[in-house]
Amino acid sequence: MRFIRLGLLAAIGSGLVTSALPAQLGYQVYAVQYAQLPAFPVSALVLGADTTRTKDVSMMVWVLRSPTRTILVDAGFYRDEFLKSWKVEKFVRPSAAIAKLDIKPEQVTDVIITHLHWDHADGADLFPNANVWVQRAEYEHYQAPERQQRTGVFPVTMAMLEKFKRAGRLKLVEGDSQAVAPGVRVYTGGRHTHESQYVSVATGGSEAIIASDNLYLYENLERRRPIAATWDTVSNLRAQERMLRLAGPRRLIVPGHDPAVFEKFTLIEPGIAIIR
Ligand SMILES: [Zn+2]
Repeated sequence: MRFIRLGLLAAIGSGLVTSALPAQLGYQVYAVQYAQLPAFPVSALVLGADTTRTKDVSMMVWVLRSPTRTILVDAGFYRDEFLKSWKVEKFVRPSAAIAKLDIKPEQVTDVIITHLHWDHADGADLFPNANVWVQRAEYEHYQAPERQQRTGVFPVTMAMLEKFKRAGRLKLVEGDSQAVAPGVRVYTGGRHTHESQYVSVATGGSEAIIASDNLYLYENLERRRPIAATWDTVSNLRAQERMLRLAGPRRLIVPGHDPAVFEKFTLIEPGIAIIR
């Protein structure tokens, strides 16, 4: 690491700084918890799990940071309608949760929304300057009012996306394996929603995979069990296999709601782990 830093300084000294540098060096990647849902049934997360098991699940956003970009993967939630309808503990607004990393909301350059469920998309308008990336098929599917509400995608979220669109900040991703920024690529995932996506990011050593709800828990991956909320099991298992291939031997894979993320990776603050 030190060698790489010296290399960067040498490059700056010799005037060889290029836009490729962040990709070469890789991103710092963080998992940031902004809330917990207590005693959540594991059988709602892992298909076929014992129906008596419960777990306090983490509600997270993920930060990808390079010298030139501050990218959020998912934006959490903050609106009262969601806070009232769920039993939520340890809640702080996602924008306040990332302040512990010295990130101001206006410094976030991009928000990659993995899917349009309320707990992943609602907070996107906390970040006033960010471009907001969603799969085009996901966005277009949920524009139909009859496909909202009971599916976990809410009218308030779609109205927010319309505002982003009018402001020129909505960036629609055209399918699988698309670069969103140097060193950051999105892949279409399993059918947790109409067209979910997950994120691969260069950390400097290997790729980290931000799976979001394509994996709820490590248990899904370890037992090769589909997530419980999927339109079909095959697409989810296929996405899991691909994530393993993309991640390689270091297996820097971060599921959407597993509190074990904060045990597996190094804590730099309570509720903030660095993925490396
Ligand atoms: Zn979801």
